[in-house]
Amino acid sequence: MTQHHQFDAIIVGAGGAGLMAALHASKATNVAVISKLYPTRSHTGTAQGGIAAALANMEEDHWEWHMYDTVKGGDYLVDQDAAEILARDAIDSIIELEHMGLPFDRTPEGRIEQRRFGGHTAEFGARPVMRACKSADRTGHMILQTLYQNCIKQQVRFFDEFFVVDILVEDNVCRGVVAIEINSGEVHVFHAKATLIAAGGFGRIFSVTSNAHSLTGDPVASAFRRGLPLEDMEFFQFHPTGIYRMGILLSEAARGEGGVFLNDKGERFMERYAPTLKDLAPRDMASRFIYQEVKEGRGIGGKDYVYLDIRPDSINRYKSAPGGRMVTAHELEAKLPDIIEMMRVYMGVEPMTEPVPIQPTAHYAMGGIPTDNDGQVLYDAKTKVVGLYAAGECACVSVHGANRLGTNSLVDLVVFGRRGGKAVAEFCQTADFAPLPPDPEAEIVAELERIRTTEGTERGAIIRDEMQKIMMDNVGVFRTAEMMQAALTKVRELKDRFTLIKIDDKGKRYNTDLLETFELGCLLDLAEVTAAAALRRNESRGAHYRDDYPARDDDNWLKHSLAYRATGSSATVAKGYLRFGERPVVITKFEPKERKY
Ligand SMILES: Cc1cc2nc3c(=O)[nH]c(=O)nc-3n(C[C@H](O)[C@H](O)[C@H](O)COP(=O)(O)OP(=O)(O)OC[C@H]3O[C@@H](n4cnc5c(N)ncnc54)[C@H](O)[C@@H]3O)c2cc1C
Repeated sequence: MTQHHQFDAIIVGAGGAGLMAALHASKATNVAVISKLYPTRSHTGTAQGGIAAALANMEEDHWEWHMYDTVKGGDYLVDQDAAEILARDAIDSIIELEHMGLPFDRTPEGRIEQRRFGGHTAEFGARPVMRACKSADRTGHMILQTLYQNCIKQQVRFFDEFFVVDILVEDNVCRGVVAIEINSGEVHVFHAKATLIAAGGFGRIFSVTSNAHSLTGDPVASAFRRGLPLEDMEFFQFHPTGIYRMGILLSEAARGEGGVFLNDKGERFMERYAPTLKDLAPRDMASRFIYQEVKEGRGIGGKDYVYLDIRPDSINRYKSAPGGRMVTAHELEAKLPDIIEMMRVYMGVEPMTEPVPIQPTAHYAMGGIPTDNDGQVLYDAKTKVVGLYAAGECACVSVHGANRLGTNSLVDLVVFGRRGGKAVAEFCQTADFAPLPPDPEAEIVAELERIRTTEGTERGAIIRDEMQKIMMDNVGVFRTAEMMQAALTKVRELKDRFTLIKIDDKGKRYNTDLLETFELGCLLDLAEVTAAAALRRNESRGAHYRDDYPARDDDNWLKHSLAYRATGSSATVAKGYLRFGERPVVITKFEPKERKY
């Protein structure tokens, strides 16, 4: 039996973006948050290093410098009006979090302590600056807990462990969502005036990733299946410091505190590539230079990894800590407790006396559901979707352009989560409920039944492995037309095989077999769009680096891409062709220049 609910506003996702939006929307309207995970298990809780804001608590800093770094870090594909909002509003959103009770680290004088992070500079690139506010290396955990507690205090309604399987968009108007209650397998239709998607990233399209198992982008794929565009999907960030082979993240905070990269010769190679910022160059560059060292035979033992060195002796010898000051093991243990623990537990390495093997890991989706600066979803450069909003990693505002700077995602969540929440509340004051289509759940329920009952020959785990491997090998840090075409062909073949999947669990309750297979279908759609958008962009910019087009080409490619499915709307895996549209980049203060660090 389908159950029906009606709320003014529905928020899909209970990470930092969803909770911030819920908190602000719930001040003026009735809101329900739907999350496939228990809220505090959302990936925001794993964010380690920090959240950027030009508070200038440690040294001189200005929001204009933060804005400039964001624009330059994004290789000038950033919409500068959005970057200005990000950098300006970062300051009071940190204060807002502080007032909600977030336990930031403090200076001896009691102000919020800050540290260095990649690509963040003073005086428009002159030197690194301490801009990242933090709670040791558990910043995201503190943000998530604080926001969740405040939502509970405000009596926001939560539907925990409800899995959204379809977004009801018709004629450019969103009417709500369809969800499965995981525990019972029951179908629930949520009818809403406004829906805000805050479903996080989809790093699980790659084999080596820092992203949690749940980061499969289902609502992003649902939006796409329903005919909405996905923007700038060719830009996926590889973070330079994943634990070798496992992909588990070691935060850039390690380098913010003075850690350095070493190659097989014991050389601090980043000095050659980025003489000013060195090891704190942006992630796209650091990842590329690591592979460059590997390609030229200077990986450790000739293999495909290098070292991250946070030994206090090394940091002191290189004078790589902020201000060249001396550090102690005790101090590093206090500032980086979790990542030091991870190095010990997962690698069996003692980071105070040994360097740690690292390798780039798929980390962050710069692309996603296109929105305006208030979170409202765009159908194209001119048309907006009524009643549909998005915020956080699944959205593309675009504030990160072709490459996101470290600590800028957490700011994005709180700044644009808040703006989205306010916009939703305002919309709900005057809007009416748009009518639901007849049998809104019929199509997706039929698809789930098909997956549950097919006696096919294919296994989801095998298709997933093959997709992740080809995406990692062929649409990763270095790309060529040939590689990307091969990936696209393979993903399309996997989509055909997906229709023949057989699952073992035929039950209704807690059928993770079924839901993981549904997630795989979503990943296949997103992998296809990523490969196709990358193949189309004949230039190198930010995280999209092509050996066959190594230069940035502003004359032809200083624009956002919008990918659409070419075959109308449905609730199931998108079969058929893609079509592409474009959107201009908003440039206000900083003309595109060559990126040097
Ligand atoms: C290991 C790691 C460390 C990081 N460190 C930093 C850092 O130090 N600083 C920084 O700025 N950024 C960092 N990032 C990036 C940043 O943490 C993420 O981009 C950000 O937290 C994403 O937040 P979000 O609210 O968009 O989504 P998430 O926190 O990922 O939450 C997604 C939500 O969507 C829900 N959801 C998804 N699909 C469905 C569905 N089908 N139905 C219902 N609900 C659904 C989930 O239940 C979840 O609640 C890090 C990322 C990782 C992986």
